[in-house]
Amino acid sequence: MRHKSEPVNQINHQVRRLIRDLQDTLQASEDGIGLAAPQINFHKRVVIVSLGIEADGKWQAGTPEALINPQVVEMSDERKDFDGCLSFPGLYGKTIRPHRLRVVGWNEQGQPFDRIYEGFNAVVVHHEIDHLDGVLFIDRIESVNDLYTIRKNTRGELVVVPFSDNFRRNENPDCADTFLKQGLA
Ligand SMILES: [Zn+2]
Repeated sequence: MRHKSEPVNQINHQVRRLIRDLQDTLQASEDGIGLAAPQINFHKRVVIVSLGIEADGKWQAGTPEALINPQVVEMSDERKDFDGCLSFPGLYGKTIRPHRLRVVGWNEQGQPFDRIYEGFNAVVVHHEIDHLDGVLFIDRIESVNDLYTIRKNTRGELVVVPFSDNFRRNENPDCADTFLKQGLA
């Protein structure tokens, strides 16, 4: 996942197959809203995103669409927002990303697009494009305190557990830092 992915030269059978595989993988996940080709071990510049509509602060994911050779040409309005990744199940965090993004690329039919993404859609697209350059969401965390996991407690309720607490409980206080430095970052 740390490799830089190669541009797609033409939309051929192989690329269409890759897009189908990405869509199947995303659909099989419980809460995925985007996926990049390197996450299924295919180092081509293809991502799929389920863009949503933001109404009254709520974000609802739509039908996944493919972005081929996506390239960010403008970004602004950096803010801290929710982040997570299908490659890190159960791990979530707050990252700083642009909330306004202008991206050029090709759609699935090989037609060029030039689009503006705003709000959480910009976060999703930025996260997926990052994957094509080997950048992961944990790289964009300011502090380990911004990482957390969601667990079931003894009463079966879902609770938020700070990432650092998981390691303290494992009686290895240095583990979180080591994990970030060596395992993840
Ligand atoms: Zn991801």
